[in-house]
Amino acid sequence: MYKAPRGTADILPEEQGYWRYVEDRAIALCLLYGYQRLDTPAFEDVQLFTRSIGEGTDIVTKEMYTFEDRSGNLLALRPEGTAPVCRAYLEHGMDNLPQPVKLYYLAAIFRYERPQAGRYRQHYQFGFEAIGDADPALDAEIVEMAWRFFELLGLGRLYLYLNSIGCKSCRPEYLESLKRYYSAHLSGLCSDCKARFEKNPLRLLDCKKTACYDVAEAAPKSTDYLCRDCKSHFETVVEYLKALKLPFDINHRLVRGLDYYTKTVFEIQPLGDGAQSALGGGGRYDDLIEELGGKPVPAIGFAAGMERVVLNLKEQKIAVPALPAPPVFVAHLGNEAKLEAVKLTSILRKDDIAAITATGDRSLKGQLRQANSLGSNYVAIIGDDEVKSGAVTLRNMMTGEQKTVSRVELIKLLTRVTQE
Ligand code: AMP
Repeated sequence: MYKAPRGTADILPEEQGYWRYVEDRAIALCLLYGYQRLDTPAFEDVQLFTRSIGEGTDIVTKEMYTFEDRSGNLLALRPEGTAPVCRAYLEHGMDNLPQPVKLYYLAAIFRYERPQAGRYRQHYQFGFEAIGDADPALDAEIVEMAWRFFELLGLGRLYLYLNSIGCKSCRPEYLESLKRYYSAHLSGLCSDCKARFEKNPLRLLDCKKTACYDVAEAAPKSTDYLCRDCKSHFETVVEYLKALKLPFDINHRLVRGLDYYTKTVFEIQPLGDGAQSALGGGGRYDDLIEELGGKPVPAIGFAAGMERVVLNLKEQKIAVPALPAPPVFVAHLGNEAKLEAVKLTSILRKDDIAAITATGDRSLKGQLRQANSLGSNYVAIIGDDEVKSGAVTLRNMMTGEQKTVSRVELIKLLTRVTQE
């Protein structure tokens, strides 16, 4: 027996109500804020990711699914959504459009991670990006939009963390000071942090291990090292977020896992800690487009993990509407009746009435049971009499009531009850 590959999951029909609920709200949110959908391929040139995410990051060193295709092109399954959006922005000359360009995506993301609850090797992200504007008001819009998404879903008990990690002119000095501080604490750190000290010192701050936590807590803060531009940007973002009454906390340990972030970074986490807990995160990436070969174009974005959103909806016992079952089931008795049932079902569907008919040769009782388990509220029954008369017997499954009606009446009646 084959199984889905480790770290992947089938999203079964009974789960689809949650996914539909989340996707519907994601799309409604984007319409509300004026973001347009962009779909990009599931794989890209591997260099798009190594150049943007950063050579020393976990994603690039350990997690990317890379492969060579039959023509020798080196490709990678998309390990995150922002770089492909920026690639498409440049490729399609969106830098010539009025800025900022506002885009969103719902896409599968692939990372070779150690699977556990809320962490998969294929997961889905809902993300949105505003490209082409450095205004702190846009940072506030993106943070508000992220927060509003969770509000629309009905999720509560969430934290919003904010930080600024500066830009390429002020970050080197901060990193120096961070390394100086950490060099005195190296022996007590976990083995991952020892490696991070060399490769990616910013990531020392968000280690979740107890031994490293206290050291990170007392570490120098990036916000104390911001240059004038980054400092005033951060202060303005804070001012806007306060004016928008968003309940954020400044968290100097928040750095995010990708190298391209500049200035504002933020994350939304549910109550209760854990490495897999972040529901979503984002930030500014003012140098990324230039890094990918464009002009300097500032930008900011956010992405949420759909599986974790669904997990939290379940944990918080948020009821989602059931997906509608076809309201009409067409049952039949005998071969001639079966042909009539197939024709009638087709007519109902053409009239926009969702219907199913029984296949095989179950007894009427068996067909009624099937209608019941499918959740159909009405059963149209065609037997010998009905074949001769052209009429149909309609059974209301909720009341058990039955009446014989003409086909014209049947369609009128079903149109009325299914649109109620
Ligand atoms: P990131 O690009 O790492 O900031 O991820 C954005 C969001 O995607 C995270 O906040 C998670 O909700 C979700 N996410 C990231 N990695 C995974 C994964 N391996 N499995 C499930 N969800 C993930």
